[in-house]
Amino acid sequence: LMGYRSPDTLELRDIFIAVKTTRKYHESRLQLLLQTWVSRAKEQTFIFTDAEDRELQLRAGVNIINTNCSAAHNRQALCCKMSVEYDKFIESQKKWFCHVDDDNYVVLPSLLRLLSSYHHSQDLYLGRPSLDHPIEAAERIRSDGSVSVKFWFATGGAGFCISRGLALKMSPWASLGNFISTAEKIRLPDDCTIGYIIEALLEVKLTRTHLFHSHLENLRKLPPDSVLGQVTLSYGGLENRRNVLSVVGNISLAEDPTRFKTVHCLLYPDTEWCPSIKA
Ligand code: UDP
Ligand code: MN
Repeated sequence: LMGYRSPDTLELRDIFIAVKTTRKYHESRLQLLLQTWVSRAKEQTFIFTDAEDRELQLRAGVNIINTNCSAAHNRQALCCKMSVEYDKFIESQKKWFCHVDDDNYVVLPSLLRLLSSYHHSQDLYLGRPSLDHPIEAAERIRSDGSVSVKFWFATGGAGFCISRGLALKMSPWASLGNFISTAEKIRLPDDCTIGYIIEALLEVKLTRTHLFHSHLENLRKLPPDSVLGQVTLSYGGLENRRNVLSVVGNISLAEDPTRFKTVHCLLYPDTEWCPSIKA
């Protein structure tokens, strides 16, 4: 088997990682991601924002895309961003589309391991359901009426991934601005609209994974020795400062309130700013 490598071996560069952000979080949230996991996946990470930030672009040397979508936190603006994410992914020719928020840490080796167990030509929609029951929406049919539809969707705040095979099938409802009109038909947020297209329209089921995490969960409950094996992580933020991962490292909570630096240094101890491990 010398020199043998399966032609389907998935590499990190085959994964398109979309990060959703907004102008007001460029310093408070994005900086931390650029300093940590994004620095290990610069070529395949695309940051979708709503303002020009030349300085950030130059300093970080990552792909920053100004969607020209509104910076408001409403359905239209968020669906506008998702629509641009989708189009850029299709254009990229990469095998997998993964979406995360700007308060997520992506454990790259775990993501690669998870996606390697599937094939990008399969129909795959992977994520954490945000509710314990399917959502019920009123699907507007023209202006004269609506019918009820039920479907599961992956919570955007924990991240989700879609295979290229499935993404291509979503095109009539997702590409070139169609995503926005699809979202208007059910009047639900971007992540629900993704679930609607996949589960309700294409009849492909959400594949549940417990490896994706948002701050809607109690992150303190994740066993410390399991953290590096998760795919996405998060933190409670200003409203819930105490909802953070319990990880043991040598960076204090004051220095690392989100625990993302600690996670990063456990994963990549050779990082220049990580404190050296003392006996
Ligand atoms: N966001 C955005 N525009 C806004 C506010 C938030 O694009 O006006 C993004 C934000 O950068 C994040 C996601 O939407 O990636 C979710 O925002 P947040 O974490 O603040 O809210 P929550 O997780 O509570 O829904
Ligand atoms: Mn959040």
